[in-house]
Amino acid sequence: MTRMIALWTLTLLVAFGNCVSVDTSMNRLNVNMEMTSIVFLLKICNYTTQSSVSSFTSWWYGEFPTKLNECSLGNVRFNKTKNIVVSAYIPCKFKSAVNGKIVDNTVFEAFNETIYNYEWGYYVAKNAGFDISAYKYRLLVYPRDTPATFYGLASVGCYADGCYSWYNTDTYTPSLFLHELGHNFGLDHARTPTDEYGDDSIMGYTSNQCYNAGHRYALGWSEPKSSIKLLNSKAIVNASYTLSLREFVKVDDIFLEYVNVSNQLKSVEQSLHVSVLQSDYSTVQLCSLVNVGDGCTVKQDISITIRLSKKNAGNVMFSISQEEDNGLLGFESNQNNGETHFLYAWVLFVSALGSLLMLMQSAT
Ligand SMILES: [Zn+2]
Repeated sequence: MTRMIALWTLTLLVAFGNCVSVDTSMNRLNVNMEMTSIVFLLKICNYTTQSSVSSFTSWWYGEFPTKLNECSLGNVRFNKTKNIVVSAYIPCKFKSAVNGKIVDNTVFEAFNETIYNYEWGYYVAKNAGFDISAYKYRLLVYPRDTPATFYGLASVGCYADGCYSWYNTDTYTPSLFLHELGHNFGLDHARTPTDEYGDDSIMGYTSNQCYNAGHRYALGWSEPKSSIKLLNSKAIVNASYTLSLREFVKVDDIFLEYVNVSNQLKSVEQSLHVSVLQSDYSTVQLCSLVNVGDGCTVKQDISITIRLSKKNAGNVMFSISQEEDNGLLGFESNQNNGETHFLYAWVLFVSALGSLLMLMQSAT
């Protein structure tokens, strides 16, 4: 059954010490720009199996800007005239721009050494035959018959003269390019505690998902539905949030995001991802509640517990509790704190909203 994703909402019932509207603990990268790029389709020494400029360009202009616009939420503009594709040849031997030594591209090791990527980047930048300073992002696409084994590489952030990324694959996807460009934008990976590429976002498994909430926030592309700072207070403030797809709530540097994960990797379609944004602009996914979950315990310097407290076909409600020495403050505890009526009113409201959404879905 195909669900009408746009109609799905998550409601968060939040019970915390205090709520404040602004959290300034994380410096944001604030990427909002007109993209300027040059793609070099490389032939290197005797490795010459490469796409033509025309065929690559038609793919590049067809799929990439659409995905870039979607994943940047319209914050990065892509004008074809400022994003060009050229072919480039790198000879078997040339003089290094880094140390003046001869770079020998006839040896197998050349394709496994990261330093050669930089050498080749500098080489094509210098020998393009025209001034490429107007193109901030320099993308080097390898020939397909090299012994290189990586799919994509990029610097995290940029060099003084530009931002470089490298691609080595038979299958071009916008996701791969957006992963590497994400590094150029300043992002590190979207991990789980045990997996470098842990979550389903572009900085993780490079699936069809876009950047996760923490990364979108770091880049200055989207704002939280609500920003909450946890304080060591036992005072309880209740609030309720209805999240549409991709909206998120920020709890210090923890992000709770409602996402659609319908792809080959997952048999489910919606989940609530909980991840924390690190100071190196990586994210660590702490848990992923998939439609019906058992709750989620987040162990960071602060400790919160997220409980699934109600579910029906069109609406999932969570309570988030801050853990304290004497147990959990949260949904159940609140009812013992004389706020039963307040919570009960919200439960009724949420139930009514869920019923309404079910009706809307069945009518669509
Ligand atoms: Zn990466």
